[in-house]
Amino acid sequence: MGATIQLKGWVRTFRSNRFLALNDGSCQASIQCVVDFEAFPEALLRRVTTGASVAVVGELVPSQGSGQAVEVAVKTLEVLGDCPADSYPLQPKRHSLEFLREIAHLRMRTNTFGAVMRVRHAAAFAVHEFFNQQGFFYLNTPIITASDAEGAGELFRVTTLPADGAPKNDEGLTDFRQDFFEKPTNLTVSGQLEGELGAMALGKIYTFGPTFRAENSNTTRHLSEFWMIEPEMAFHDLADNMDLAEAFCKHIIKAVMERCQEDLAFLDQRLEQEEKSKPQAQRAEQGLLEKLQFVLDNPFVRCTYTEAIDILKESKPNKKGQFKYPIETWGADLQSEHERFLVEKHFKSPVILFDYPAKIKAFYMRLNEDGQTVRAMDVLFPGIGEIVGGSQREERHDVLVEKMKAVGIDPEHLDWYLDTRKFGTCVHSGFGLGFERMVQFVTGMGNIRDVIPFPRTPGNAEF
Ligand code: ATP
Ligand code: MN
Repeated sequence: MGATIQLKGWVRTFRSNRFLALNDGSCQASIQCVVDFEAFPEALLRRVTTGASVAVVGELVPSQGSGQAVEVAVKTLEVLGDCPADSYPLQPKRHSLEFLREIAHLRMRTNTFGAVMRVRHAAAFAVHEFFNQQGFFYLNTPIITASDAEGAGELFRVTTLPADGAPKNDEGLTDFRQDFFEKPTNLTVSGQLEGELGAMALGKIYTFGPTFRAENSNTTRHLSEFWMIEPEMAFHDLADNMDLAEAFCKHIIKAVMERCQEDLAFLDQRLEQEEKSKPQAQRAEQGLLEKLQFVLDNPFVRCTYTEAIDILKESKPNKKGQFKYPIETWGADLQSEHERFLVEKHFKSPVILFDYPAKIKAFYMRLNEDGQTVRAMDVLFPGIGEIVGGSQREERHDVLVEKMKAVGIDPEHLDWYLDTRKFGTCVHSGFGLGFERMVQFVTGMGNIRDVIPFPRTPGNAEF
């Protein structure tokens, strides 16, 4: 107290030519700077507008007003960068999230996006912290790849061939031998296959990088560019995999709750306001903080696909024809409406579904002894749906080759992947967690476009 300090930041508000709320982005709260307007030229004070950057030197003193313990008695004031009020799109009032998406280059300056971005940082830090504590190595898998882990149809091509008049081969098709990598390449949809190579050498690895999917799904949970965390562990079976996924999710939630109290309190309030504008019946039963605490305090329900189908078949919405995709037979792919029913209505808890039909899951998943199901698991979260997808991997060379052939993948294209099954193969498992879906969960933001600084979605690559 009494110390002279220098502050630089942006003006949030300047009331009565006297009370300057200054924020430097480091936290939610602004510091109150009290300006003696008689001591400064009016021309200078007029430039202290919302959004302007200023430097202040002053004395830290106990606050006269309520709402803050200390304030700064301003001695010198300098406007570093003006911000003309008539053209600045952000006003000190509530803007809609839709409007803010149009000005994503400025929206991080708002309270809501400041909070979301700081929470996002804390969550990313917690990811590295968790795996480091558990003896995992951070492995960087390639962003440009020639393999397609999930099956064709949703890839962004990477090429230096001209868009007009690409060279043709004898069959009249694009001649990728003349392309930069002398073969077709694309942006990665998953680092898993390379991650498995790492696990078979280092034991436990994880990736955390950008992932690209050209799927045309305009939902509140899909981005064309998102960040995925993919751990892969040698000598781990499906049960170990589920334990790890649960511990991982809880670690992120706990870390954020401990380290982002101010921002979460703000987001909790924001959500409460938003809920109030909805009809009673549609309001969430729990507030944000309550929901996060609930997830920390309770074990995730574990349920086989087969049990889930029985529950869904007998469920009210199924019998009343309220599902868009009615559940009739075993083998049906679960849609997000079914996942949300299980999580939000039936179990009222995060759920790990496992042992899915082989037919609806990827070729690399470990076939169970029944010959029908694979050791797949999805972690489903309230309000989000699938947040984690993973499996125990098929470690038997011959079974894997058969499964590849059955779905039309040429084993020769993935001979490097099959080598892991030839040279010291072992039981191993892994999963992928969509980072933005986790950030959505911990911030309570309804739309995934609002938890990444610059969202990419179909038709939108602005900024
Ligand atoms: P969904 O069924 O929701 O489209 P998926 O089954 O295609 O997801 P996986 O291939 O299992 O997803 O990817 C692992 C995780 O990555 C998912 O559980 C999800 O959290 C996240 N994810 C997948 N696709 C997207 C996307 N387009 N945008 C954001 N996150 C995604
Ligand atoms: Mn999945």
